[in-house]
Amino acid sequence: MNRDSLQAYGDLANDIQEIFATEQEIHNRVSAIGAAISRDYAGKDVVLIGVLKGVLCFMADLVRTITIPVEVDFISISGYSAKEPFHGVVRFVKDVEVPVENRHIIFVEDVVDTGLTLNYLLRNLRARNPASLEVCTLFNKPDRRLIEARIKYTGFDLPDFFVVGYGLDHRERYRNLPFVGILKPGALLNKRGPK
Ligand code: 5GP
Repeated sequence: MNRDSLQAYGDLANDIQEIFATEQEIHNRVSAIGAAISRDYAGKDVVLIGVLKGVLCFMADLVRTITIPVEVDFISISGYSAKEPFHGVVRFVKDVEVPVENRHIIFVEDVVDTGLTLNYLLRNLRARNPASLEVCTLFNKPDRRLIEARIKYTGFDLPDFFVVGYGLDHRERYRNLPFVGILKPGALLNKRGPK
């Protein structure tokens, strides 16, 4: 994306310090993951389960690069504040609607950071007896991990930066940027979203 097309995003683009992944780079990685899933799961009963809302662009693009039959579902959970200690419990705002038992589940995440959210959600899904359960994440922050997370498919490893765009938000903003960018520290501290 050149500077002119970035300008079309006005205030949103002004808050971006640096583009971490362009539309083309994201497309290339998502296509490679889609091809790997199509190969690895051929002939299997597959369900992709995404965590709303950050996964919205990733899931939309990923499913279109998968060439085998798959079902798609979403869960939505209440966030926990960085100021509060995480007790390993998250609240389901929306649970999975399709059956999970005896099916091959691919859990699709936007970012695996400390791994705490993922750990809780995997334990919850595992209790429902899927045939298999693997993780696919667009971004992985291995340096920030507090609990081990086994990830089968990763888009990009990310250093300890806070990124937005391509579905990822900060206070509900920036999801509509087509690329992924590192937020300026000032924007991270000062901006108040609509919530
Ligand atoms: P964890 O429980 O692994 O620490 O938290 C993962 C969740 O934190 C992600 O699903 C995402 O919602 C949020 N998160 C972590 N890092 C980032 C980031 O760099 N950008 C955005 N937008 N969200 C992040």
